[in-house]
Amino acid sequence: MNMLIFIIAGLLVHCVFLASIFDIYFTSPLVHGMTPQRTPLPPPAKRLVLFVADGLRADTLYELDDNGTPQAPYLRNIIEYKGSWGVSHTHVPTESRPGHVALIAGFYEDVSAVAKGWKENPVEFDSVFNESKYTWSWGSPDILPMFAKGASGDHVYTYCYTAEKEDFGAQDATKLDTWVFDHVKNFFQAARSNQTLFSKVNEEKVVLFLHLLGIDTNGHAHRPNSREYKDNIRKVDEGINDIVSMLEDFYGNDGKTAFILTSDHGMTDWGSHGAGHPSETLTPLIAWGAGVNYPQKVTFQFFEDEFLKEWKLEKWKRLDVNQADIAPLMASLIGVPFPLNSVGILPLDYLNNSAHFKAESMFTNAVQILEQFKIKMTQKKETTLSFLFTPFQLLSDTEQINILRKARSYIHQEKYHEAVSLCKTLISLALEGLSYYHTYDRLFLGISVVMGFVGWTSYVILLIVKTHTSLTRSTHDKASTVLLLYGFAAIGVLIAFFLLIQTCPWTYYIYCLLPVPVWYAVVKEFRVIQDLASLLLVFPLGQSIGFLVAGALGIEILVFSFFYRSTLTVGLIAFAGWPLITRLWAQAKVTTLCWTLLCLLLAMFPLMPVVGREPNISLVTVAGLVILLISSFFLACLCKSKNKYVPKKDLTILLFQMLSIALSTYVVNSTHSSLHHKQGLPVINQIISWTTLASSLFVPLLSPTFFFQRLLSILLSLMSPYLLLSTGYEALFPLVLSGLMFSWIYMEKEALQHYDDSLKPKLAVLNFSYTTDITQFRQLHLDDIRRSFFFVFFIVTAFFGTGNIASVNSFDPASIYCFLTVFNPFIMGSLLVWKIVIPFVLVSCAFEAVQVTTQLSSKSLFLIVLVISDLMALHFFFLVKDYGSWLDIGTSISHYVLVMVFTIFIMLLSGLAQLLTTKRIELWGRTKRHSM
Ligand SMILES: [Zn+2]
Ligand SMILES: [Zn+2]
Repeated sequence: MNMLIFIIAGLLVHCVFLASIFDIYFTSPLVHGMTPQRTPLPPPAKRLVLFVADGLRADTLYELDDNGTPQAPYLRNIIEYKGSWGVSHTHVPTESRPGHVALIAGFYEDVSAVAKGWKENPVEFDSVFNESKYTWSWGSPDILPMFAKGASGDHVYTYCYTAEKEDFGAQDATKLDTWVFDHVKNFFQAARSNQTLFSKVNEEKVVLFLHLLGIDTNGHAHRPNSREYKDNIRKVDEGINDIVSMLEDFYGNDGKTAFILTSDHGMTDWGSHGAGHPSETLTPLIAWGAGVNYPQKVTFQFFEDEFLKEWKLEKWKRLDVNQADIAPLMASLIGVPFPLNSVGILPLDYLNNSAHFKAESMFTNAVQILEQFKIKMTQKKETTLSFLFTPFQLLSDTEQINILRKARSYIHQEKYHEAVSLCKTLISLALEGLSYYHTYDRLFLGISVVMGFVGWTSYVILLIVKTHTSLTRSTHDKASTVLLLYGFAAIGVLIAFFLLIQTCPWTYYIYCLLPVPVWYAVVKEFRVIQDLASLLLVFPLGQSIGFLVAGALGIEILVFSFFYRSTLTVGLIAFAGWPLITRLWAQAKVTTLCWTLLCLLLAMFPLMPVVGREPNISLVTVAGLVILLISSFFLACLCKSKNKYVPKKDLTILLFQMLSIALSTYVVNSTHSSLHHKQGLPVINQIISWTTLASSLFVPLLSPTFFFQRLLSILLSLMSPYLLLSTGYEALFPLVLSGLMFSWIYMEKEALQHYDDSLKPKLAVLNFSYTTDITQFRQLHLDDIRRSFFFVFFIVTAFFGTGNIASVNSFDPASIYCFLTVFNPFIMGSLLVWKIVIPFVLVSCAFEAVQVTTQLSSKSLFLIVLVISDLMALHFFFLVKDYGSWLDIGTSISHYVLVMVFTIFIMLLSGLAQLLTTKRIELWGRTKRHSM
């Protein structure tokens, strides 16, 4: 097969695999077409005021400070004398947008938002604001428009500061909150003199929403333990006090206003949110006013956490809710229909109302959630062939009617308690059923994609066997090929027809039809399969099982290393033992000793914490000195060897590189000490840093292409920028890694002799520029699979040896201080990427050397690497997560994507490595080339 066609086909197949996860895992759970459900009894409140203190942690609000005074005296007073309180448990991701959606629309925002961007609304949804008569909202332009846009008609009004103006909070973020309070006061001042506005705000079913961003901003800037964060809480407390008395005054103390204070998410001690730590997921909820229960004094209440004691609130009943439960609570207080997509369960304990009202409300809640279930089921039923449809067993149509009828009759008989518990059962069944139908297609799509994956991988294996080994004598049988073609075409048509009658989305066609041509290509090579099978049958069973186990174990180690870096240590220790098992050590004792020692030394790196946690500049200095030592040793060797001719300019280049290493070591030290003394980055340091970086890629091209000279030159050149970008132990990493790479090249040479005595490459005379001269590549054998595996393993080690995906996300800016100190995401990102890529380049250059030593074509090795990475990708396909924090979801996707682009990346890397190792620039004119 033509290589170009193969690459294009491979890219297409991988793109489909990559896109498939968004159809399989990340689809919107929302359904449309439900009828609004409203409790038939009159509501207790005419209007609701919702305060959302963005980023406010439950514990910071509730706890007392060192003197025993509350952080928010007014709100504390409400907990003790006026209202109900508790902790609202948010879902991950703990971000503003999903938090507000859960609060106001009552559902946990679908992860399809991951695929479709963060800010833009992926779907239209209903909310309490939309159901209200009028909603006025004040706050951030990032949050408010979301609910105004989704609302039908013109009854949700927003007043935001502009995004640019958000800067006025740059010095003092509490201004964001005082802006809101002032504007609310002005609004009501204006309402007194404006007749139309006055009658509007006096309507029923009115919502006032105050979004207070100051606390979140201060938390990000100064962390939640700071004075600023706590002062902001006090400001908000005072502001709420003012607003409440202003409103009561405005409405003449009519007792028809309900108040709710909560937050969208919490914040970690270090000022971030998004993940699932309790400091992020526990938010406060305080409700008071019309229709809300007064404080309930209790003598004992049990919670697993110790918060009640810490907060000195043991005496007041704590009522915990899930964040989405707040939406039905608000809806019930002002008597609007529950938001259509809400999955919240009305927290009855918060209501100060008759048992009849509570039972009716719960009944409404159950019907509203059941509506979603019914629509979801109908949708699925319509698009599935009836004989294939397996309904959700626990909630059949008759079961639904039974429960509803029974609950109705309980209410008639005034057995309100029984009615409530029956409704709660119905709700939990309906929610379970909703998730059942939401993931209904997952298995079927998953199987299709896995079929495609397995087919593709088998095809690549067959291709390797066919073109790079002497295992088969391939002859083509024209007649049977034509027959096969018709057969597979028929299967394809059948699948398409099947999808057509189920009215599946067009993407399903791609996932289901893709395996057809792939498997056709596999089955077409049935002669190769036959030969391979007969060969395997002759092969001793124990050996083939051992080989399979070793292969599976190798892949597993690679996959696990993405989650636990320490797995790499296990792998490296196994590598250290490799020469012992294969008896290579008897053949080359010194090389083996070096290999084993370096493997064990490198095995220590994955056990250390990820980079950037504890800066330790002295380790960078040590790394610099060690390289200087090694290179001067090499220099001495070069000068001593009298029988060899060493051009003067090669020595000059080496000396120049050593100088650059020494300079880099000095610059790192001087920069960090100068920054430590708050004297800024010296300009001369900056100039040296950038020059070193620029020179690092072309200086190696000046050195001779003999194996060790060129490899050492590449190492020295790449080490200088790496030192400049290091802040701690990671400076030693490329050093140990390249040491191991050198001994790897030696080991591979020994391994080659071990199996085949006729091949005896002499490393000293090997020259990278010979690569193109090798016209006759040898055939592949089993040991080449191990070689490719080593390469993939070292590439993975190069990445996870010092960090992980999270550490790339949240890197320490200290590592780029030698280059710039002002914030510039683009330059910072590029420098960081280069730092990550340097170890990859080292490994790739070593692999290039291994290919030359073992006389292998890079194409055949590339195919083996492709198989290994596809097997890994298949594994990660099963590990993609659609729940958890953005970080969890993002990490699982990025693992998958990482392995997917792995192959493309390896192609690019091997190109770069080839360039670095084989090209030579002659600066001083061409000299006669001497082979040593
Ligand atoms: Zn927020
Ligand atoms: Zn935030």
